Amino acid sequence: MIRSNYHVHSNYCDGKNSLEEMVLAGIDAGLTSMGLSSHMPLPFKNDWTMRESSLDNYFKEVTYLKEKYSLSIELYCGLEIDYFIDQNDISPLSKKNISKLDFTIMSIHTIGSTRSDNVYYIDETQNNFAQGIKKFYKNKPRDFIEDYYHSIAQMVLDYQPDILGHLDLIKKFNPEHFFFDEKDNWYKDSVIECLDAISETGTLVEINTGANLRVPGVGRYPSDWIIPELFKRKIPITISGDSHTVTGINYDFSKTEIFLMDCGYKEYGMLKKGRWEMQPLGI
Ligand SMILES: [Zn+2]
Ligand SMILES: [Zn+2]
Repeated sequence: MIRSNYHVHSNYCDGKNSLEEMVLAGIDAGLTSMGLSSHMPLPFKNDWTMRESSLDNYFKEVTYLKEKYSLSIELYCGLEIDYFIDQNDISPLSKKNISKLDFTIMSIHTIGSTRSDNVYYIDETQNNFAQGIKKFYKNKPRDFIEDYYHSIAQMVLDYQPDILGHLDLIKKFNPEHFFFDEKDNWYKDSVIECLDAISETGTLVEINTGANLRVPGVGRYPSDWIIPELFKRKIPITISGDSHTVTGINYDFSKTEIFLMDCGYKEYGMLKKGRWEMQPLGI
């Protein structure tokens, strides 16, 4: 049984439930270690991350909940931090706050010019993503996707976050190969090159089960064919829900655990008393 989840949103950002509701759902689901990880505020206008003015309250509330539920669950304070392809970097606000966190998740969600408000998103709608590719990549999805995987690799090498968020988020709006075909050699090469870079670090790749709950048919991030490639490279994993509701707190964990064991994995990363330890799968 999977006993942890470090990718948990709340109504501090685009999650639907309060931090406390998410914690109680985690306890109910039998989790013994859980990370809260709202979206770090962004340096441009948007409607899905935390406001900068809420950061202090967020830290205070997580500290309060850690103590309140300390007998039932280990809680950790994190944030999902954005890396910007056009800047090859994270925001100054992220850098300033990293030291306050128990752990970090780093992800890429944006396409376009993050120094202005001229930003599009990989994961908002298919149309918005397509517009971003049209505007900044001359309507060539392949050019963007290659850039995306290079940037993921650079982000992990430069910052070595505890967890890499949703490795192949770019497949979210790709039904019937709208943007690309995962079977194309250029696509596979981009992913493999990225995994080779990640394997030089200690960063955990998250097996993100929440994708399918939000867009049925997407499956997990990363795609099934990538898991044996991770295993071959001895890349450590953690299992997370990218939970935006209480029902997503352990969504699809059981099936995912079986699949990971079929791929050869025997353990996953879990925070225990503040340190990452490997927890056996299937127990
Ligand atoms: Zn994300
Ligand atoms: Zn997330």
